[in-house]
Amino acid sequence: MDYRNFPQSVRIREVGPRDGFQNEPEVIATGDKIRLINQLAATGLKRIEVTSFVRPDVIPQLADANEVLDGIDRPSGVSYSVLIPNRRGLENALERRDRFDETNFFLSASETHNKKNVNRTVEESISGLEETIPLAVEAGLRCEGVISTSFGCPYEGDVPIGNVLELALRLARAGCVEVGFGDTTGMANPLQVRRFFEQVRERFAAEGLGEIELTAHFHDTRGQGLANVLSALEEGIDSFESSFGELGGCPVPAGATGNIASEDLVSMLGEMGIETGIDLPGLIEASAEAQKILGRPLGSHVLKAGPVEWHR
Ligand code: ZN
Repeated sequence: MDYRNFPQSVRIREVGPRDGFQNEPEVIATGDKIRLINQLAATGLKRIEVTSFVRPDVIPQLADANEVLDGIDRPSGVSYSVLIPNRRGLENALERRDRFDETNFFLSASETHNKKNVNRTVEESISGLEETIPLAVEAGLRCEGVISTSFGCPYEGDVPIGNVLELALRLARAGCVEVGFGDTTGMANPLQVRRFFEQVRERFAAEGLGEIELTAHFHDTRGQGLANVLSALEEGIDSFESSFGELGGCPVPAGATGNIASEDLVSMLGEMGIETGIDLPGLIEASAEAQKILGRPLGSHVLKAGPVEWHR
């Protein structure tokens, strides 16, 4: 392994306010959400997914999307994104167009997970997004597409990479300048991740889509999240999504919890000499605040142990 192949800096999107708050059992008060997002935005994070426009009867935890968008600060240099399931969701989000910068469109690579999550076939989802994404592009929004269960499905097991690739290419052609790959229920292993991104990069380059940003979204459900990050880094991936405090998970199946913790990711990268631009103590403070609000210990390691720096 040639360590010089690692990227010098990486981009991190904080997804805790959406992926995290959505999947915690408690409904967090709107005022607390706004306070936490403002706190996160002050840590040097440049990308934050702040809420979603999924139907409130489906995700009651994020029913306050409008109030959150209205309430948060809009510091320059911080790009806010919202999660969009379909055209209706986009239309609702566009009523708050000036309050966010990016849209994140999602679907699952496996039929059963997609059906359980959004009650549509994969083809119905991707064709719907192919009609919807251009409308977001037209509204001047930066578009990301995220493919859940890219590395395995809790109902179907292995997910053929060919299926994931086809969806990724269709999202890119529809107007997404970034495609994220979600290990939604923590099934990926480091060798698989390395082979996966090697193939995705090769295929995107072959299709003339080499400029599309490829993002890794790992969950730590089985403790392999950061090992998978290392593998992705080795394959040249320099864009990641994570969740402060290790909040969140996936609504189906129950118990599939745990995005990788942002502070664990920032700590590891910092110790490796890879630049993130994020203030680790500030991030830990935000997670400590979330822990106080939820009233129970969160899963993040660095939140418990503190930065390595404090022990030098
Ligand atoms: Zn996630």
